[in-house]
Amino acid sequence: MEKITDQVIKRNLKVYKLFRKVYDRVKFGANTSKDRVTFEQRLKKTKRFAEKFIDFSSKPDKNVILITVDCLRNDHISYNGYQRETTPFLKSIRGYKASLIATSPWTYPAIASLLTGFYPHNHGAVLEGEDRKFDLSKLKPLKENILTLSEILALFDYATYFNSGIDLAFLSVRRRFHEQRLSSLTDAESILNELERWIKNQDNNFFAHVHLKDLHEPISPPNEFYNYFGEVKKLPKIEYWGEFQKPENQKGGKFEEFRENKLLLYDNTLRYVDYVLEQFHTFLEDKGLIDNTILVITADHGEEFWDHAELEAGYFYDVRGYAGVGHGHSVFNELIEVPLIIMGPDIPKKREEDKPVSGVDIVPTLMDLLGIQHNILFDGINIFKAPKKRLILSENTIHGHEKKALVYGKLKFMYSPGDNVAWIFNLKNDPNEQNPIIDEELSEMFIEKLSKVTSGKMVFWRVI
Ligand SMILES: [Zn+2]
Repeated sequence: MEKITDQVIKRNLKVYKLFRKVYDRVKFGANTSKDRVTFEQRLKKTKRFAEKFIDFSSKPDKNVILITVDCLRNDHISYNGYQRETTPFLKSIRGYKASLIATSPWTYPAIASLLTGFYPHNHGAVLEGEDRKFDLSKLKPLKENILTLSEILALFDYATYFNSGIDLAFLSVRRRFHEQRLSSLTDAESILNELERWIKNQDNNFFAHVHLKDLHEPISPPNEFYNYFGEVKKLPKIEYWGEFQKPENQKGGKFEEFRENKLLLYDNTLRYVDYVLEQFHTFLEDKGLIDNTILVITADHGEEFWDHAELEAGYFYDVRGYAGVGHGHSVFNELIEVPLIIMGPDIPKKREEDKPVSGVDIVPTLMDLLGIQHNILFDGINIFKAPKKRLILSENTIHGHEKKALVYGKLKFMYSPGDNVAWIFNLKNDPNEQNPIIDEELSEMFIEKLSKVTSGKMVFWRVI
């Protein structure tokens, strides 16, 4: 077997990066200049219809920056009590902090929800099929007749910008921004530096969304942070999952050693992301942008490190034979609970960790914060007006049968008829979701609610 050295890791990453670049070019096309033309044509057609729903007579005057960090788990944030000081900068931020339930445990539908205010079954950007095998040919595009926040703001003459280190985020909302880039596997520092350069060139109000790939496999932070909380052992495929995707390998000393080092690498990388966010915040301060910019930091979904490997292996079908690693495959909290931070002028400075909010709430909240009057029936609501308890949905898994979750305060319902699973978790007594409760009566009630929440609606936009 080949000995794993720094050089071998670097070489593997290089090969992978090259592969992804070629893949992205073939799949998504290298020339995105045509995207801008398509975007502008669409925007022209859109205006008259949008006027039925939005009052364009008074203009918003604040900039908006949305930063999404791929694979960022809520429980690894240090202000949530995590053992390592992973996020001193996020902790220091004075703004609004809450736990956000991702609308889906993977990038493509979750990003579309964050930018439209609709659940996946309504916005349409989902993976189709009964027995899902993450077959990318089964991706459905975001519905043409739904506008993203970037498009709404573009109609108010905002400049709009998007850059992603992950191709599926780019693809999810392609042609919905003036300027849209795919910077596959580019680190957070480069993406935010580029955003800074773009911001410096803006004379008008702007909306920018960047999606950071650093916590997503292959995970490889810069040298200064690689061993931040302790030296990460150079174990085979540590930037991925080693040989530990399958349940039969998930035991013994080697597995424990791998798991420990993998978590260390994730935390070191998170510390790097926190550092880069701090640099970016300093840039906003230096440029005098803090007083007229709303900054939202959140994630598309989390990441699993064998948290529910046993339950998954025992109850959920997955043709790969994997359990407990990565994302997209389940709706346990390590995958759907992510942090939400909103800061800016007039934003309440408080933490509401016991009031879960949803990815579909971001757009309606920002519309209100910007003072935009509208009669759009979003799936989400303004976070600051949301009750403590309401039904929040997560859906569209990518391996095996469809799994859905409904969260209601501290109660959570997990439903996968294909796997014969209808479980209730009481998150107050069982925050790690290790003890599923079988309660037929309560399940019936949740199934009824679920069918209402997911029945789909005629979405208001009739644009093209
Ligand atoms: Zn993602």
